[in-house]
Amino acid sequence: MPVRGVRQHRRRDPRRSRAAGRGRCVMRAFVYERPADVEQAVAAVAADPQAAFLAGGTTQLDLMKDGVWTPDRLVDITRLPLRGIMVEGQLMRVGALTTMEQLAAEPAVTERLLMVREALLAGASTQLRNMATIGGNLLQRTRCRYFRDPSVAACNRRSPDSGCAAVDNTARMHAILGVDERCVALHASDVAVPLVAVDAQALVAGPGGQQRHIPLTEFWVRADEGPSIEHVLTHGELVTAVDVPLLPAGWRSGYLKVRDRASYEFALCSAAVAVLMDGDLIADVRIALGGVGSVPWRARQAEQMLRGTHVDPVRFEQAGRATVAGAYTLPGTAFKVDLAVATLTRQLLAMTTEANS
Ligand code: SF4
Repeated sequence: MPVRGVRQHRRRDPRRSRAAGRGRCVMRAFVYERPADVEQAVAAVAADPQAAFLAGGTTQLDLMKDGVWTPDRLVDITRLPLRGIMVEGQLMRVGALTTMEQLAAEPAVTERLLMVREALLAGASTQLRNMATIGGNLLQRTRCRYFRDPSVAACNRRSPDSGCAAVDNTARMHAILGVDERCVALHASDVAVPLVAVDAQALVAGPGGQQRHIPLTEFWVRADEGPSIEHVLTHGELVTAVDVPLLPAGWRSGYLKVRDRASYEFALCSAAVAVLMDGDLIADVRIALGGVGSVPWRARQAEQMLRGTHVDPVRFEQAGRATVAGAYTLPGTAFKVDLAVATLTRQLLAMTTEANS
């Protein structure tokens, strides 16, 4: 039975200055409901263009309080049976409501996907990891400060064709790959980076009982392909699980996150690297970068450059340079070009030499 809910948040009047706008409280009503199953949840959201799913809420509720996100109907999916991890052979299925902390504690992750565990533990705080779900993590909105401040009018992601405040202002925590002058928003997830590296797929339920798999490499839409479209899900589609291939025996992986402080901070740059070594030879390699792209950035060209080559820091740096070739930079983000090269080189060295030791 839907419950009529009322919440209070501060809404800033974009016609007034930020200081003057602060403190103006607006009461906004919304419908809150708890569906009995996935089918009901999908039908409820699909039927109402102003409806949205609510899971861990660690990002969504902030956005609602700030007046950035204003759904009329919240469909709470937290009690649906979408929690848990199942390992079958080479595949791990992670329910979308599994928390980050639960996934980090999964033995198969420690044994076969260490870079996923390291990325999870490098993200957020323990309290947040106990609330935040894997599905929600993949769907988190950008941390762009201008996107999250409704008193800033120019944001193509929030208001199509309104401009981009970040391009003309401070933009240090923004992206350099998959962006252009219309939007330089960063995808801030850590765990999505190693998941992209191993070709994980989202399992999605849609209206009418439809189900489909979406490779995570195709799940998000780059900002330079349309700033206001963040992913390929249609309204009402629900991520129910993520299928993650486990790395076969002999592979080694790790996640390196470079940030301004050691905890509770987003990445300036990160590198998820998995390698299969044959002596000094890189028999196979998977690479993805975080902190630099509008989507978690799979570095396929670098992988091709390194497969079948020997451990060589110069070659590693060349692979890094190839990855960031064509980067779109602003004065505030130009440092990320060299940082990305250095981060990838360091992590490749760590993985290839440790694998040999
Ligand atoms: Fe908006 Fe993107 Fe510009 Fe941020 S970078 S202000 S999200 S358009």
